[in-house]
Amino acid sequence: MTAQIIDGKRIASELRARVAGEVTRVKRDHELTPGLAVVLVGHDPASQVYVRSKHKQSQEAGMASFEHVLPENVAEADLLALVTRLNRDPLVHGILVQLPLPKTINTEAVINAIDPAKDVDGLHPSNAGRLAGGFAALSPCTPLGCIILSKSVHASLEGMNAIVIGRSNLVGRPLVQLLLNENATVTIAHSRSRDLKHLSARADLVYAAVGRREMVRADWIKPGATVIDVGINRLSSADGKTRLVGDVAFAEVAAVAGAITPVPGGVGQMTVACLLVNTLRAACAIAGLPKPG
Ligand code: NDP
Repeated sequence: MTAQIIDGKRIASELRARVAGEVTRVKRDHELTPGLAVVLVGHDPASQVYVRSKHKQSQEAGMASFEHVLPENVAEADLLALVTRLNRDPLVHGILVQLPLPKTINTEAVINAIDPAKDVDGLHPSNAGRLAGGFAALSPCTPLGCIILSKSVHASLEGMNAIVIGRSNLVGRPLVQLLLNENATVTIAHSRSRDLKHLSARADLVYAAVGRREMVRADWIKPGATVIDVGINRLSSADGKTRLVGDVAFAEVAAVAGAITPVPGGVGQMTVACLLVNTLRAACAIAGLPKPG
């Protein structure tokens, strides 16, 4: 068997086009221009790439994009003051502070300072709590992307056995909550889980969000299962170039699975597209408009 390759690039591009259409509509009908503010502290190269891509894609979707670059040694109080200003700015509907922050800054304090209504990364405890309680919330973008990719294969996830490997606040935990909202039966695994291979081999849906290259092997996968690989691991090759690989041993797992996301070209493509979705949703909610389609 050869798995269907889930084309994250195409699905993300269709999602961005839908968001752009909705942005045109709310601008025309309600004079509302959704605005996204991204804050970058320091000059981590990977973070710079992510921030550039967020800026470009939000502009392409017709949104207002505000970029704030602060020096590596910025005082925590100054960063908090910027977040407070953005909270009050009526042109800003989404605030994203690019992580990781320098060690001198208390990340939790910064996340807590963001207005939950503008928390498009879905990391504020208020949004995490609402999601866990099954209430409407802004949810983290990568898990949202995982659900959309899964539903590109299965119209409904109801009753399916899912395993989420990884329990971070950014990916694993919110993904579990979103899967529960879809009525899947969910196992959450982590570094202390026993017999991961057997837990995984029972699942119809396997989500790998660990950060260990090619950890998930063919014999972890039930034939025909859908495998969503969140992992991004950078490998340097002898010629000095960097190559990205996921948490799943792609070639061998693709021979067993029913459907699989590639790395790159899978989940990574969806994260920024879902950030645009969240910014549009936040803008509509703040303006008192119905949730966009
Ligand atoms: P974290 O490091 O925050 O969390 C990793 C999780 O994996 C932890 O829960 C940890 O368990 C678990 N883990 C570690 N080792 C093992 C193991 N041997 N067996 C089982 N579980 C293990 O990472 P993130 O959640 O932030 O990211 C995970 C991966 O996803 C990374 O590769 C990251 O680059 C990628 N990523 C990709 C994104 C995208 O857009 N595609 C966005 C965000 C992340 P424990 O809790 O017990 O320590």
